[in-house]
Amino acid sequence: MFGNLKAQPADKILQLIGQFRADPRSDKIDLGVGVYKDATGLTPVMRAVKAAERRLWETETTKTYTGLAGEPEFNAAIAALVLGGTITPDRVSSVATPGGTGACRQAFELIRLASPHATVWVSDPTWPNHLSILNYLGMNVRTYRYFDAETRGVDFAAMMADLSLIRSGDVVLLHGCCHNPTGANLTLPEWQAVADLLERTGAVPLIDLAYQGFGDGLEADAAGLRLIAGRLPEVLIAASCSKNFGIYRERTGALIGLSEPARREVTQGTLAFLNRQNFSFPPDHGARLVTMILNDDALRADWQAELEEVRQGMLSLREHLARELRDLSGSDRFGFIAQHRGMFSRLGASAEQVERLKAEHGIYMVGDSRMNIAGLNATTVPILARAILAVGI
Ligand code: PMP
Repeated sequence: MFGNLKAQPADKILQLIGQFRADPRSDKIDLGVGVYKDATGLTPVMRAVKAAERRLWETETTKTYTGLAGEPEFNAAIAALVLGGTITPDRVSSVATPGGTGACRQAFELIRLASPHATVWVSDPTWPNHLSILNYLGMNVRTYRYFDAETRGVDFAAMMADLSLIRSGDVVLLHGCCHNPTGANLTLPEWQAVADLLERTGAVPLIDLAYQGFGDGLEADAAGLRLIAGRLPEVLIAASCSKNFGIYRERTGALIGLSEPARREVTQGTLAFLNRQNFSFPPDHGARLVTMILNDDALRADWQAELEEVRQGMLSLREHLARELRDLSGSDRFGFIAQHRGMFSRLGASAEQVERLKAEHGIYMVGDSRMNIAGLNATTVPILARAILAVGI
């Protein structure tokens, strides 16, 4: 049997990590992997997470299974964080999942179960795992244009032109905020126009919210999603707690389904059924920490304050880099770096320029020129700016 297995293509980002580790240069810069790093290059455990863990250790009396859907308190807390109380509970179904990836996977499975012939529309580009899981599940996938290679913003006219082909029952995958890999995001009027289109066509939105709090703030980052949720009868939301709680390896996320109230019970039951088919009970540790933090005033205030420091730190790095590039190049063509939001920006460099950044300057980014802004600090920003111009970007 094992003889039938074929080698799977290596993950490009994991490959890049390996190359970075093997590079002996002491001044190398890692802008590849998608985790938040502070100015010293560490991915810290957040203060509120540590405090909640201590409290949990003291008070937890059992590690017996949680429910198939996870703990109701977690599902309520995460739905409130994402939806901000804008949706009546009789429309909300929710299950805990292993991270945002687990939520995406369960969302795709629900789509396949409900509408096996539906087409899932994803932005070009999108997070590569979307495509790889959709293909693995054998689902119909089409892309819509998204990134404008010239302005490095969203090519909204092209996006809407492509989405004019969607049909009732199709699913449109949207990044809630902090688009990965480009950093370019929809404005609120653009979200409005997308909602109009979805309403007109009867297509269903699936919103991947992996970076709430990393862009313009916890509320602002959910504004487009809430607009959609308030207007459309059916919505899927894949939420991740990996980044905004810094609990990557705890695998914490939720799949939320918004339906008409009459369909809530069956939707909730189906979400729990899908959990059972794939892994039974979802991981609990991270979900419990998130619940404790969100439901405790002091822990929540401290978490929000630290998240805000993280967000502001990335924003000042963006502004610093854009300023540095403007001064060195004497042009405004890098202004998009300060406009983008979240951890990533797509520079719009060629594969050859990305390779030269690595070979000649020890600067590592993903081959499509996605860079992780959080990999920078005040010292490395000017180094990167000079290197970007030296390789002719
Ligand atoms: N969606 C997007 C767009 C992402 O960038 C990520 C993280 N890289 C995820 C979902 C899922 O993250 P996780 O499974 O670690 O929660």
